[in-house]
Amino acid sequence: MVDGEGRVALVTGGNRGIGAAVAAALAAGGDRVAVASRGGDAPDGMYGVRLDVTSAEGVDKAFTEVEAELGPVEVLVSNAGIARDTLLLTMAEDAFQEVLDTNLLGAYRVAKRAARPMLRLRRGRLIFISSVSALIGSPGQSNYAASKAGLIGFSRSLARELAPRGITANVVAPGPIRTDMIDALTDAQQNNLLNQVPIGRIGEPADVAALVTFLASPQASYITGAVIPVDGGLSMGL
Ligand code: NDP
Repeated sequence: MVDGEGRVALVTGGNRGIGAAVAAALAAGGDRVAVASRGGDAPDGMYGVRLDVTSAEGVDKAFTEVEAELGPVEVLVSNAGIARDTLLLTMAEDAFQEVLDTNLLGAYRVAKRAARPMLRLRRGRLIFISSVSALIGSPGQSNYAASKAGLIGFSRSLARELAPRGITANVVAPGPIRTDMIDALTDAQQNNLLNQVPIGRIGEPADVAALVTFLASPQASYITGAVIPVDGGLSMGL
């Protein structure tokens, strides 16, 4: 079970990769963390909940379970995401839709479900994991980049809607980060990416987690509507 008296944080896709690092960092800071994924597994000390972001009913059920077990969610990290890469001429409509449905509509579903209790509490943190490809584009990732760019307009609109009620909404835009998503690329593709990163290394999930925990912290209460890269300089903050 989950120890501590901290805030309740829910991380979608918190079972591996960037989400797992974010969940661990929030838990280390004293938050009670719900790790939401399709499998429902969680490391010791965190609450695992089954959640598929493509189902509004499933999202509602997962939040209801977390509220009953831990209390209302004050920090939402919308991190679950997929890629279905291919060039435009071979990009099937269902591959485009599937990526939008998970990455963009999935964020809408969890943010909408999280917002009502946050409005009642008059505080909350919405943090969306986008991508550097939303800022600079990426060949073979038109669907993925579109979904991740959509998160920026979505989050900035929420930032304006919800600021008067003490809720912030921000976007984190990682560059290449060492997870299953990057390991799926060929060595040539990884080297090509690496050559474009001024800092000269692939990032670690902990690099992203450090920014997310800051945005979730009381020290970040005056930051909303921001889009912040964690990309080794790849986008130069576009
Ligand atoms: P991984 O592929 O390692 O993990 C993806 C996570 O998303 C898993 O936890 C997975 O859970 C979850 N997920 C996927 N689909 C769903 C769904 N329908 N419902 C619930 N959970 C789902 O990816 P990363 O850790 O690399 O990526 C995390 C986020 O960061 C993604 O949004 C990604 O686009 C973004 N990002 C990653 C970069 C990188 O270089 N790694 C760069 C820029 C952005 P499950 O176990 O259920 O499959």
